[in-house]
Amino acid sequence: MSTVSLVTGGNRGIGRETVRLLARRGHTALLTSRSQEAAEAAAADLDPEAAPGEIVPLRLDVTDAASVERAASVVADRYGRLDVLVNSAAITYDTWQRPSGADLDVVREAAETNLYGPWRTIRTFAPLLRASAHPRIVNVSSESGSLASMGAGTPAYSVTKAGLNALTVIIAAEFRRDGMLVNAVCPGWVATDMGGAGGRPVEEGAASVVWAATLPDDGPTGGFFRDGRPLPW
Ligand code: NAP
Repeated sequence: MSTVSLVTGGNRGIGRETVRLLARRGHTALLTSRSQEAAEAAAADLDPEAAPGEIVPLRLDVTDAASVERAASVVADRYGRLDVLVNSAAITYDTWQRPSGADLDVVREAAETNLYGPWRTIRTFAPLLRASAHPRIVNVSSESGSLASMGAGTPAYSVTKAGLNALTVIIAAEFRRDGMLVNAVCPGWVATDMGGAGGRPVEEGAASVVWAATLPDDGPTGGFFRDGRPLPW
């Protein structure tokens, strides 16, 4: 049976490219999006004919518990397990804010997607990941969330990504004995809707994610990486 992978925020940007690269490696890649229509359109656009794997569109809004539970029950019924979970969905690269004047409603909304979203998704899919022989979780983070280099910019984004990094460490610790590899990955500055023009090609950013999604069993866990190299927390 092929590896079953699920990517949140799979309808555009790095998530979509990650789906494409995983399907190219033969995975059954679940392209999830907060809208079923957007998932289907993106999957059709990715030309599954060109990939040895399968691309399966599925609705999953990381802020909506019922939607995450419905997606998990579809995966349970169809596959009985999940091998790879890639938490890519994120919002609010808030270049317009500074910490002391930040709108806390904006921060709260960002946390709902960038931190509680992955946490909710991991919680819900944990039994299915435990049913896999080689489970992997990749939290798509950012160097903006690195305490070692943080400045005053993008406060909501930076703090929620720092939270995601902490989540990575504690989930990795919990699942270490189950052989689950859980890592945070920075894709670098990538030319997507979020990254804007000038960043590196989306395939390079997604390759950084795919590296962590396809680690061998003796690969690292509880780390923070870009392009397969460790980043300071
Ligand atoms: P993007 O182009 O803005 O795409 C964001 C994706 O997240 C979209 O598919 C969006 O779906 C989805 N999303 C937003 N809220 C969601 C929700 N509640 N439930 C499910 N999906 C939701 O961003 P990107 O540049 O590809 O970023 C992907 C990841 O890389 C993010 O975690 C980001 O923080 C990280 N990252 C990006 C860069 C960069 O330079 N681009 C740098 C460092 C880290 P809709 O179409 O429905 O909005």
